[in-house]
Amino acid sequence: MLPRFYLPQVNITNDQIIISDKEIIDQLTKVLRLKTNDLFIIFAPQAEYQLALKEIGDKTAIATIIETQPAMREPGQKLTLYQSLLKKDNFEWILQKGTELGISCFVPMITNHTIVREISENKLKRYHKILTEATEQCGGRQVPELKNLLPFNQAIAAAAQQPGQKLIAWEGQTDSTLEEKLDPNVQYYHIFIGPEGGFSPQEVELAKHDNFTPVSLGNRILRAETAAIAAASLILLSQ
Ligand code: SAH
Repeated sequence: MLPRFYLPQVNITNDQIIISDKEIIDQLTKVLRLKTNDLFIIFAPQAEYQLALKEIGDKTAIATIIETQPAMREPGQKLTLYQSLLKKDNFEWILQKGTELGISCFVPMITNHTIVREISENKLKRYHKILTEATEQCGGRQVPELKNLLPFNQAIAAAAQQPGQKLIAWEGQTDSTLEEKLDPNVQYYHIFIGPEGGFSPQEVELAKHDNFTPVSLGNRILRAETAAIAAASLILLSQ
């Protein structure tokens, strides 16, 4: 597979694209050591371009468009993961693996038992970088959206207004599994995954009250990051 890079916006003049993104230039020169006429791909929200390198300097590269493909639609189903922030780098791990699986939107949350309760500027930058790199790496065509950090109640209210199926993964729900409850006839899915300490009983009640379906991911207690990836796999790979 040719190296792929994401650019949110491309400027095309006479079948050429000028790239001035520092990270991409560094990758092209220092990591991949591309030479004139070597091929690579730039993908943007509207299209994907196969390019041949024409000129490269420290700050800019010029590449000629060999082929343009309009952006294909992402897989039919759209999954939004509402995920409590987690300790260590577990939230980042979810962003990376979840992007590979095809999650379209991540909503970070603060719940009653959430330990890490803010996202620093640096962390936020890192999160966006992880999403972009994971999309480049897995051949995805759209970098997932990362929403602002929300308290649990507001996340529930926001999801409740969206179309599609609303699910909350709860280890206390012993009699109905995600697989059984998954509605194959909708396009949008929203799933809530709790922090290390789980959701509080009040949170589960609130979700039920707003017509969320509590679901089990089996009779073992999974770590939050395992639960997120298991749930995303069931939803996105099963249909
Ligand atoms: N309350 C628990 C662990 C929470 S696990 C305790 O401390 O014992 C973290 C999150 O992963 C939960 O909030 C839930 O969303 C999800 N999760 C883990 N195992 C699960 C299971 N078997 N079924 C459904 N959700 C699960």
